[in-house]
Amino acid sequence: MAANLPIAVPSCRECGIQSVARCPSCRRPLCLDHFPRDEHEPCATHLRDAAARFTCYICSAPALPQQWSSTSFAHYIDPHNCAGCGRYICDERHTRIRIEGVELAHDGMRSQRYHVTRRYCGICAPFRHIGGLPGAVRWLVGVSGVAVAGMLAYVELMPH
Ligand SMILES: [Zn+2]
Ligand SMILES: [Zn+2]
Ligand SMILES: [Zn+2]
Ligand SMILES: [Zn+2]
Repeated sequence: MAANLPIAVPSCRECGIQSVARCPSCRRPLCLDHFPRDEHEPCATHLRDAAARFTCYICSAPALPQQWSSTSFAHYIDPHNCAGCGRYICDERHTRIRIEGVELAHDGMRSQRYHVTRRYCGICAPFRHIGGLPGAVRWLVGVSGVAVAGMLAYVELMPH
């Protein structure tokens, strides 16, 4: 790429004006108005078609993934699922821990702030430091794997 060419800002895939963000799901560049999931394709269709999936796994209350922009460089993303087990959880009753994090992204010459909400359900909250429930399961499997290996070594040493 020639150094003296200005870096083109990608245009919104919905309306063609200058984009301000990239959708974390479909990776498409989008403007302020089209950044929410229900304002652009293929995310809007996916949101509608899979509506039954976006409910709390405990109480079935709606748990729709959401994203919006406050300004052209500050975007908010709330996937609404547990960062440990990945299942969708409602805000009021079954989000045990909510952590707001900021991720900086560089897109060409611009830098954007993505405020990301991480949630943990009651089961995963105690294991959040090792990656939620799947992490805890991996860790347990690792430990029992060592125990099994130890037992096998013991069996090998026994006189036949
Ligand atoms: Zn647009
Ligand atoms: Zn999208
Ligand atoms: Zn719930
Ligand atoms: Zn969970």
